[in-house]
Amino acid sequence: MSKTDFTELKALLSTPKQIAIVSHKSPDGDAIGSSLGLYHYLVSNGHKVDVIMPNDYPTFLKWMPGTDKVVFHEGNEANAESLINAAEVLFCLDFNTPSRAFGLEDVILRSKNVKVMIDHHPQPDDFADFILSDTSACSTAQLIHRYAEMMGDKIPNKESGECLYTGIMTDSGSFRFPSTTAETHRIVADLMDLGVDNAEVYNLVNNTSSEHRLRLLGYCIDDKLNVFSKYGTAFISLSLEEKKRFHFQKGDTEGTVNYPLSIEGVCFSAIFIEAEELIKISFRSIGDFDVNMFARTHFEGGGHRNAAGGKSDLGLQETIDKFVGLLPEYADKLK
Ligand code: 5GP
Ligand code: MN
Repeated sequence: MSKTDFTELKALLSTPKQIAIVSHKSPDGDAIGSSLGLYHYLVSNGHKVDVIMPNDYPTFLKWMPGTDKVVFHEGNEANAESLINAAEVLFCLDFNTPSRAFGLEDVILRSKNVKVMIDHHPQPDDFADFILSDTSACSTAQLIHRYAEMMGDKIPNKESGECLYTGIMTDSGSFRFPSTTAETHRIVADLMDLGVDNAEVYNLVNNTSSEHRLRLLGYCIDDKLNVFSKYGTAFISLSLEEKKRFHFQKGDTEGTVNYPLSIEGVCFSAIFIEAEELIKISFRSIGDFDVNMFARTHFEGGGHRNAAGGKSDLGLQETIDKFVGLLPEYADKLK
């Protein structure tokens, strides 16, 4: 059983340690923000820290302080694995099961270090020695602030603050999702006191798109939006050919799945994106419809009640047909 009392961990970390931080595949703002926020905090306490991600992340997150320190497992397997194995303490952030750290699952499970999971996804696996899991938290980055407090510390500097702010801002939909609480705003106030400039962070994340990306968004909404009013559902799909046409870069469809929810009466939205080897799917909902359950049940995925993802080995059209075919089953819940 993972311990929720961090007294022993606090004692362990009272002297400098070799630490590794890992997060999930296709890292998002919260994965990178929480990891680098924790990185700066641990470094300020004298630890030697490595940050390892399963694979690369979008350029709109690459301004964050410490981004140059991140080691990618994909393409650099031996180095990344040796850093995890060499660590005395391993922090697992923003995922609830080692399989989300795709490719690093076995290394994480076999490494002999003390493991600490900090996360906000439902139904966490019991693989860590210490766990801070709160599904009501809007982001893992918010939980890093709480973790520092539990350890009797404060977030030490602007660098850490900017990373945590980014994680909180991106995972809370810029503070508009219901998961945004008074605690979120109190923590953000703390981060602003450290010198974090909210407008600057927002610009760096959201106003650095390429022209292609904006045109792709227009195309998704104008040409590729399908609405099933009867089921309060809408979806968008993108093929490999369409991605190529719009010079697709990693992260270019981030957030696109939210737009269909702006239609009155639509409470369930999906985007299907064709990749070389599979179809990557994102699901979003408003209200009670549980997309975590839907993704787990039908598309080998998971996530949160209102934001989840999954995948499909079928072709793009077959995947869409499967999705559309499932809607009548959920008609009662999609109202
Ligand atoms: P996104 O749609 O932005 O990729 O992910 C939304 C949420 O679902 C995130 O919390 C993410 O961690 C989770 N998620 C995305 N894809 C998967 C997946 O394939 N498996 C699981 N378990 N969770 C996923
Ligand atoms: Mn998160």
